[in-house]
Amino acid sequence: MMPLQRKEAIMEWLNKEKTLRIATLSYRLGVSEMTVYRDIKPLMEKRDIIRITGGIVLRESEPTPGHCVYCMKKNNSIHQAQMLYDDQKIEYFCCPHCALLHYHNQGEEKADQFICQDFLKGTTISGKNAFYLLGADEILGCCSPQVLAFEKKEHAMKFSEGFGGNVFSFQAAVREIHRQMSGFCGCSE
Ligand SMILES: [Zn+2]
Ligand SMILES: [Zn+2]
Repeated sequence: MMPLQRKEAIMEWLNKEKTLRIATLSYRLGVSEMTVYRDIKPLMEKRDIIRITGGIVLRESEPTPGHCVYCMKKNNSIHQAQMLYDDQKIEYFCCPHCALLHYHNQGEEKADQFICQDFLKGTTISGKNAFYLLGADEILGCCSPQVLAFEKKEHAMKFSEGFGGNVFSFQAAVREIHRQMSGFCGCSE
């Protein structure tokens, strides 16, 4: 297969499967993982796809219909978050608040990947590498206490200077939101 055909094949699979592992692509295309990375580079630059640990995810431009898995509220298309599982299952959340609480409540079967939107830039980012601002002034108008996600720690820190709150890494934010909620759902309707 030529590079162009491989790219078309990757996009076709992604449209159906939403998320793919680099190892899977390497196997299906019969090329090395290095070649897969070279193939997906232009797709990432065009922002059609997003890199996650060990794989890629289709960037969806359409707002996702449906309801939050955690609080059942209608999804906020701007600040929604998604969890992806090994078996291709995808769960949608109205905002990072619900995603973090849901993650905390998961047992052994934790989500394989977690993606959310950078609050400032609106870009899709890896939730496990993101930074979270808890306790800032109310802006999202979604769930309480509010959780804002940022790709860069500096952005979260800077934002907290103007709007208050504390910045946490992913695992710390999961613990903190759970502590604040004490196991109860505080979704404002
Ligand atoms: Zn929710
Ligand atoms: Zn919410």
